[in-house]
Amino acid sequence: MDILLVEDDDSIAEPLCAGLQRVGYTVTRVATGGDALAVVEPEFILLDLGLPDADGADVCRELRGRSDVPIIVITARADEIDRVVLLELGADDYMVKPFGFKELQARIRAVLRRAQPRAADPGATTPLRVGALEIDRRTRRVTIDGAEVLLTPKEFDLLAFLATDPGAVFSRQEILESVWDTHWYGPTKTLDVHVAALRKKLGETAWIETVRGVGFRLSPPE
Ligand code: CA
Repeated sequence: MDILLVEDDDSIAEPLCAGLQRVGYTVTRVATGGDALAVVEPEFILLDLGLPDADGADVCRELRGRSDVPIIVITARADEIDRVVLLELGADDYMVKPFGFKELQARIRAVLRRAQPRAADPGATTPLRVGALEIDRRTRRVTIDGAEVLLTPKEFDLLAFLATDPGAVFSRQEILESVWDTHWYGPTKTLDVHVAALRKKLGETAWIETVRGVGFRLSPPE
């Protein structure tokens, strides 16, 4: 997923870009409201409210007027934030500087989940495509280059979950909570067993990459 970062302060934007890229996002960074509005069909927006050329709130309103793109607003001061006003402007969430990168990641995920219904959601009717892989959540069918891959229900749920954000790293805990049970605190061996089975069925181990000490990500093999 490509994230548009609208932030004029290099000391914030640079580590943020690096962090987002490290966890698998691509990032387009701009420093003004004008440049932000010039980007064609962004997929996700992190928007600083204090911009040199425009009021971030106006930029937010204008972006929302054009599309349903998820927007998380970033502000330097807690008292700048009027949650009601932000929601009226169409922001999906906000963060107050300074914030931790892990928290930002969690909020991006949460906003994405609200925007893209989960695998189990009957409303999730659009097939997910990752390279040659197509995952139809309505019929629960998986194909690679048109050839069907037969999965168990849990294998399907796991694959569909990872495919909601290809390239992004999902933590083990996050996967277990989303795919198995909201209150899963048991051993995580189950997850490894399912990942191994999925890799075998997808034909190439590289589909699901292990990110040491963190979790897993789904992306097309090189
Ligand atoms: Ca700023």
